[in-house]
Amino acid sequence: MTRTKNTTVCVAGGGPAGAMLGLLLARSGVDVVVLEKHADFHRDFRGDTVHPATLQILDEIGLVDRFHELPHQKVPTIGVVQDGRRIDIADFRRLRVRYPYMAFVPQWDFLDLITAEAARYPAFRLMMRTEAVDVLRDGGRVVGVRARGPEGELDIRSTVVVAADGRHSAIRRAVGVTPRLIGRSLDVIFFRISRRDTDPDEGICVRIGNGKIFGATDRRTYWQMSYETTAGGMAKVIAAGLDAFRADLAAMVPFLADRVHEVASYEDLSLLEARIDRLDRWHQPGLLFIGDAAHAMSPVAGFGVNLAVQDAVATANALVAPLLRAQRTGAAFDHSRLAAIQRRRRLATALSQGLQRATQRFGIDDALNGSGQPPAPKLFEKLAPAQWLMSRIIGLGFRPEHVRTPAASPAQTEGTRG
Ligand SMILES: Cc1cc2nc3c(=O)[nH]c(=O)nc-3n(C[C@H](O)[C@H](O)[C@H](O)COP(=O)(O)OP(=O)(O)OC[C@H]3O[C@@H](n4cnc5c(N)ncnc54)[C@H](O)[C@@H]3O)c2cc1C
Repeated sequence: MTRTKNTTVCVAGGGPAGAMLGLLLARSGVDVVVLEKHADFHRDFRGDTVHPATLQILDEIGLVDRFHELPHQKVPTIGVVQDGRRIDIADFRRLRVRYPYMAFVPQWDFLDLITAEAARYPAFRLMMRTEAVDVLRDGGRVVGVRARGPEGELDIRSTVVVAADGRHSAIRRAVGVTPRLIGRSLDVIFFRISRRDTDPDEGICVRIGNGKIFGATDRRTYWQMSYETTAGGMAKVIAAGLDAFRADLAAMVPFLADRVHEVASYEDLSLLEARIDRLDRWHQPGLLFIGDAAHAMSPVAGFGVNLAVQDAVATANALVAPLLRAQRTGAAFDHSRLAAIQRRRRLATALSQGLQRATQRFGIDDALNGSGQPPAPKLFEKLAPAQWLMSRIIGLGFRPEHVRTPAASPAQTEGTRG
């Protein structure tokens, strides 16, 4: 028999968008259940860049000191190496912000921090190994989620459902909506190479040359490497063979030449297909899409995690007051409020995706088709304002959000869940 639970908000997906929304709602006293289909957050090669705007949000909710206690690296610049010369395309130290750097933190540590903080509030409930499989409807309105967990099927009835279940959203499928494809021409192959103390201290650096792009992110004990290629590029890597891949790596990142054998088999390479897409409509009565479920991002500029967090903040800012009213008095929730979140976030999202496409078109594609060196990075050397602008766009985004929701003490936020 299917069990039933009641809550005010059911969030499908415990990624950056869902976890942050769960915390913000619970800390204001809104009853929330977050469903996460995996048993933990421990998955490799997830977006792990935390930008100055997100650090500011962590500051606003009193979490920034605990965040800085996590193993992390502060990266103040983003550079491109072309013709053997490094060009900084962003330098966050030029911004007037409290945290003038990008912090690299394994995403699982970030999500553990957010969900542990949320768990202090009785209004929060995180259900791991619980997968949203369908929505519940009443007439034309979504009134909850059907989920499958360790104890079988469960119906979670809620005033609002938030789909934060990522780029392959099950909720999107359940309600029959498809995002518009905006760009799909990049595959990213991730792998690791060990780090030695004698290696250069270079934070994050992208190397471009001979039709190849290798990215290296310093993770202190290892290098998180990425190899950018056109869509379907993994087949080309396999056709050329691992020796050719290792030789390209040694040529492009010479200080790793003595360790390229660490890429021992194709199993050491993880393919992630980058895709940029967006829903035309992020809401229906009773249902809201945020994060990648509303707009999948490519890895370019590391916008994804940060936009997901900004969506969560905007959602909480807009919905906490009416949801608390509905929860406390039984007053009807005005579903037209869900449209306000798309209105607020859509332009910033579209501009970020536009920048990702432009970078692809004027930087990555030129570099990959081997038609010489892309001209774009050199612009940043010649035009000082371009570097400032890029630092601002990457660091703060097009519309930074600030937390406006009240924080109740955990003891004050007794849940009402049934
Ligand atoms: C190759 C690649 C590299 C990237 N690198 C970066 C980077 O360095 N920095 C950056 O900012 N962004 C990066 N991004 C983008 C970034 O990963 C996403 O934009 C961001 O994670 C979106 O957050 P989200 O919470 O919306 O979705 P997700 O992070 O996808 O989280 C969704 C969560 O929902 C869970 N879930 C899925 N389906 C269900 C279901 N049916 N029921 C319950 N739970 C479910 C998933 O397990 C997951 O935990 C990268 C993207 C790609 C493709």
